[in-house]
Amino acid sequence: MNVLLLGPQGAGKGTQAKRIAAEYGLPHIATGDILRRAMADGTPLGRKVKPIYDSGGLVPDDLMIELIRARLSEPDTEHGFILDGFPRTFVQAEALDTMLREIDKQLDLVLELQVPDEVAAERLTKRATLEGRPDDTPEAIRRRLELYHEETEPLVEYYRSRGNVVGIHGDRSENEVFAEIQQALEQAGAVA
Ligand code: AMP
Repeated sequence: MNVLLLGPQGAGKGTQAKRIAAEYGLPHIATGDILRRAMADGTPLGRKVKPIYDSGGLVPDDLMIELIRARLSEPDTEHGFILDGFPRTFVQAEALDTMLREIDKQLDLVLELQVPDEVAAERLTKRATLEGRPDDTPEAIRRRLELYHEETEPLVEYYRSRGNVVGIHGDRSENEVFAEIQQALEQAGAVA
């Protein structure tokens, strides 16, 4: 099964994506994680994206598209994947469609994790204390939530028009959210 998780930062995408990946034995493809690794390793990509990342901005589409193209061509995606953090713009969504068509795949299910902005901002602020992520400053948090509403949220309609979006109430305990996700996966026939 090929699953896409949408939702603002702080909605719990990463946490839930990891649980889905572990439960169903699928790779968790998180573009934020890939970028953080590139920055930690000091690769040319990492050095290029660092100022954008730190300010809470969006990395240019062409870089992200190439990164995902490379990742989706790895053999571990053969039986499915959990995509988290990509696409974030229409250009990325269209590129993903094209890429998947080329390799004869499609998204089986799009899960939209819904949480109010106040909850997302509060969780991100808490994470800032715990993990010290450079993009968890108040200003970067505001920018990221703003960009989510402007650039990424419209993608929900893009996918909804194809009828494979399920909304999940993210403002609950981790276990409750995961139970709802499992139900959605089963109903969609994405898992047995
Ligand atoms: P995340 O870990 O998903 O919250 O992503 C952290 C940061 O990485 C974002 O604020 C962006 O700067 C960058 N990023 C991750 N995925 C993308 C993407 N698909 N397009 C543009 N920027 C991205």
